[in-house]
Amino acid sequence: MKNGAMDFIVIKNSLLSMYCDMRLLGEARLLFDESSDLDLISWNVMVSGYGKSGNLNAARYLFDEMPEKNLVSWGAMIDACVRGGDYVEALRLFSRSQCEGVRPDIVMLVSTLKACGHAGSIRQGYWIHLYIEQNKLGSSDKGSNVILSTALVDMYCRCGCIDAAFDVFDQVTNKDIVLWNAMIGGLAMHGHGRRALEIFGRMMETGVMPNESTYMGVMCACSHGGMVDEGIEIFESMKTRGVEPQREHYGCLVDLMGRAGRIRRAEEVLLSMPMEPQAEQWGALMSACRMHREFDVGVRAGRHLIELEPHDAGRYVMLANVYAGTGRWKEAMDVRREMEEKGVKKERGWSLIEWNGRVEEFVAGDWRHQQRRKIYEVVGEMERRLEKVGYVKDTSEMVIDMDGEEEKGVAMSHHSEKLAMAFAILNIGEGVIVRIVKNLRVCRDCHNYTKLVSKVYGREIVVRDRSRFHHFKEGFCSCNDYW
Ligand code: ZN
Ligand code: ZN
Repeated sequence: MKNGAMDFIVIKNSLLSMYCDMRLLGEARLLFDESSDLDLISWNVMVSGYGKSGNLNAARYLFDEMPEKNLVSWGAMIDACVRGGDYVEALRLFSRSQCEGVRPDIVMLVSTLKACGHAGSIRQGYWIHLYIEQNKLGSSDKGSNVILSTALVDMYCRCGCIDAAFDVFDQVTNKDIVLWNAMIGGLAMHGHGRRALEIFGRMMETGVMPNESTYMGVMCACSHGGMVDEGIEIFESMKTRGVEPQREHYGCLVDLMGRAGRIRRAEEVLLSMPMEPQAEQWGALMSACRMHREFDVGVRAGRHLIELEPHDAGRYVMLANVYAGTGRWKEAMDVRREMEEKGVKKERGWSLIEWNGRVEEFVAGDWRHQQRRKIYEVVGEMERRLEKVGYVKDTSEMVIDMDGEEEKGVAMSHHSEKLAMAFAILNIGEGVIVRIVKNLRVCRDCHNYTKLVSKVYGREIVVRDRSRFHHFKEGFCSCNDYW
């Protein structure tokens, strides 16, 4: 190639990256399609540009079409999957890249660890941890060491392995605020309120100043750990340390008070906060009303939520459940009708379970699995065994069955986590902790069911749902039935 042609492609590539950085993917694609002298860099820029703009399909199409791939291409595609929420595919791509002999760099490892955390894939996460240690990655540079350690802490916490997260955390000598926050947030997710407060104290001692995320983590920890007064105190101390409470912090305060049953007080906080409350803050009040069966406030919160997010099926479910919880079935059915008339579609519920280095996926009423016959046999058998110890189906949340697809005749006995548990009983040896990741909130019936399975089958089961961890053991759950 002549020098002139070389320069030309260099200019073209920087133009492509500029378009992508400005999110002008249409312009970038036009230039890309019109050019006949593309090189590997041009392809990589496009895959990464589509990934960052959230167009996973377009990124994948180009990735599959690429004439050759390098580390950057694989990294860009994995990152695109993580951003698009397809964590299982991100892990598959990582495995494929390993088969093709790609040596991952820190950026790629960080996005893959994120995928491991979200998919609950402790095995692959642990493998990456070993890889980092064996290759002494980040050991020469303190900055990248903190970045990798933060990703590991986050991954272990999300997979429910707090102790492993703690080991990594403790070994870092120059902890920055992001790492402290990851550890505090991880403890919060598991309801370890006291430990989170301890770490918060240690952080203050070392002179690192807490920021908004730190306060979010500590307050959530208090909230999930039932430490109401401590949480309120921390909220009040924010201003004196020069951190202005944001909407999220007010939401957390509402949650704290709501959990403790101080519902009217929580509603007052919400109505008097300096900024307009949004769905998340109303949602916190709503959960409290649902838990304490507080009817009037619950209906008010429910109406606000539907107004704010008219296309979110979960909002209708919550309001319908408030009505159903007090036996007002007619009103509950009206909410359901309203949802159908507006054409609101439910998000599909799924559960993931890792087994033998693979991630198995289940949706409600799933018939795609190889072992489907056996799985459904076990589901039937589980239900019979649980009934003997007093299990009764709880249909109070079933006015709108969020997880199932009742219009297709899928019953709640076949909610995705029940199928995942049956799979676990069939395949996973006793004594091994069963880890399930679920995308929606666990319904009341599945929660009760899982508690009984942990007792009758003597299994320890960790379920991570949309907002937190449930650690089921000997008939009890770590959330104390508050979720
Ligand atoms: Zn369920
Ligand atoms: Zn629970």
